[in-house]
Amino acid sequence: MAEDPSGGPVRFQNRGSRPMSGPPVVPRYPSRVDLHTHSRRSDGVLEPQALVDAAAAVGVRVLALADHDTLAGVRELRAPGQAELLLELVAGVEINSVASGIDRLWEGELHILGLGVDLDDEAFEAALDRQRESRSIRFGMIVARLRELGLPVDEGAAVMRNSPGSSLGRPQIARLLVAAGHASSVDAAMQTLLARGKPAYVPRYGLGPREAIDAIRAAGGLPVLAHFADGPSRRALVAELASQGLRGLEVHYRHFDAQTVADMAALATDLRLVPTGGSDYHGDVETYAEAHASLFVPDEDAEAMYAALGRQPVEPAVGGASS
Ligand SMILES: [Zn+2]
Ligand SMILES: [Zn+2]
Repeated sequence: MAEDPSGGPVRFQNRGSRPMSGPPVVPRYPSRVDLHTHSRRSDGVLEPQALVDAAAAVGVRVLALADHDTLAGVRELRAPGQAELLLELVAGVEINSVASGIDRLWEGELHILGLGVDLDDEAFEAALDRQRESRSIRFGMIVARLRELGLPVDEGAAVMRNSPGSSLGRPQIARLLVAAGHASSVDAAMQTLLARGKPAYVPRYGLGPREAIDAIRAAGGLPVLAHFADGPSRRALVAELASQGLRGLEVHYRHFDAQTVADMAALATDLRLVPTGGSDYHGDVETYAEAHASLFVPDEDAEAMYAALGRQPVEPAVGGASS
C-alpha cells in the first residue's frame, strides 16, 4: 500500500475550502450502497470485475461504477456471456466539468456524476468520446512537461495511451511518477507537481457544468453534484445548478466529516435534490474493504435514486421487504 506522507487522510480528495477535521461519520450498519467508484477504465486501480467482486464481498448490493468520461467498464460487465453480477450495477460516469467564470472552486472544476445513464445513447457516447480525446491531449502535454522537468514517464504513459475506450487522467501519471521514484505517493505527486499552480499542471478543456448536466439528462441519467463540501456555504451556486437541471447532491461522501454530511443533507432537502453517496474509491491507499469500513450510505439513497430515475432495480436489492 502507498504511504501517505501527510499521515492523514488523502488531502487531494478533500476538494474545497471546508476543513474535514470534525468527528468522522460512524456507519449505522455496513453500507449496502456505493454510488461512486472508479476502475482501471479511468483512474482507478482495480479491473471492473475485481471492483464488483470486492464490493459484493463486503455486502454492497447496489454499486455505481462512475469512471471519468467512460462507460467502458460498465459495458464490459454487462456484456453478453459475462458471469451474472452479485449486485445491482448502476451505469455511471463522472464528468469533471470546467466551470469557467465561477470563482473559488477547487481546480476550477465542478464534478458531475451521471447515474443510470443509457449505455446505448449515441449522442452521449459521442460527448464522452470528445471528453476522452481532450483528456488524451492533456495527458500528452503533462507527460511532455514532466520530461522537460527531468521527470520522464514516457514509457509507461505510452502503454496507457493504447487502451481504447479508457480515460486518461492525472492519477495514472502520478502512479507512473511513484513507480519511477520521482514521487513518494500519488497524493504527493499530485500536490507537488500535477495540481493547479504546480510545475506540471496543464489546464483541462471540456464540458461546462450546464453542458454536463444537459448531456446526462438527455441520456436518461440523474445528474449529481459530487463531493462539493462548500455547498452549504455556497447555496446560491448549488441552487443555480439545480435551476439548470441538476437533480442530485452527493451527501454521504466518504471523505466528509459528520457535520458536513448533516449540512449537505439539509441542503439537499432544502433544494429538493436527491441525496446520494459513495466511496469515490480509486484504490491507491487502501483496499475496497478498508474504504468500505468508513463509508456510510443509507439504503434510502439508492431508493431515492431509483425513484428519481423512474426505475426499480432488477432485483429489489435494498429496502425491498415492504413492497
Ligand atoms: Zn470527482
Ligand atoms: Zn470520483
